[in-house]
Amino acid sequence: MVEKISKNMVVSVHYTGTLPDSGEVFDSSEGREPLSFLVGHGQMIPGFEEELIGASTGEKREFTLSPDRAYGDREEEAMMKIPRAQFAQLEQSAKLEVGTQLVAQMPHGPAPFTIIELDDESVTADFNHALAGKTLTFNVEVIEVRDATEEEIQHGHAHGISGQQPEAQPAKTCNDDGCC
Ligand code: ZN
Repeated sequence: MVEKISKNMVVSVHYTGTLPDSGEVFDSSEGREPLSFLVGHGQMIPGFEEELIGASTGEKREFTLSPDRAYGDREEEAMMKIPRAQFAQLEQSAKLEVGTQLVAQMPHGPAPFTIIELDDESVTADFNHALAGKTLTFNVEVIEVRDATEEEIQHGHAHGISGQQPEAQPAKTCNDDGCC
């Protein structure tokens, strides 16, 4: 039986993502292991899963996603002015510039941001995803489709292409925060 991609299946793909305006490649699995994910559990941006529903192993699909089906629109509220004094310690070892990417430790976890403005008084941080507001084109090749294991559905994510934890890394287990 040919497995077709639907909810609660684990899909492994090779993919290349490009910006249709410039042709720039922003991400690709080329030279890496295929990307595995569990369908229907919010692991991927919504349009990526939707466009692959019904595909089977060996199939190639190309699709273009508007921001609402990818990383969403850029939000003004996601930009924040932070007193430069808070960066004093960091600035002893690193130079701050417009475009510098840093990670803030927030109560809910690490939050990456990009410096978009800088003066003596303050640093303007943009917490929007780097691909927010952008239209994205994906070329995807389906490498494998299989049913998820009970454990994967419980965890809400895929355990690699085989569904097994790699035995070579016994210390790497899934914990409560959902990390493999
Ligand atoms: Zn897990």
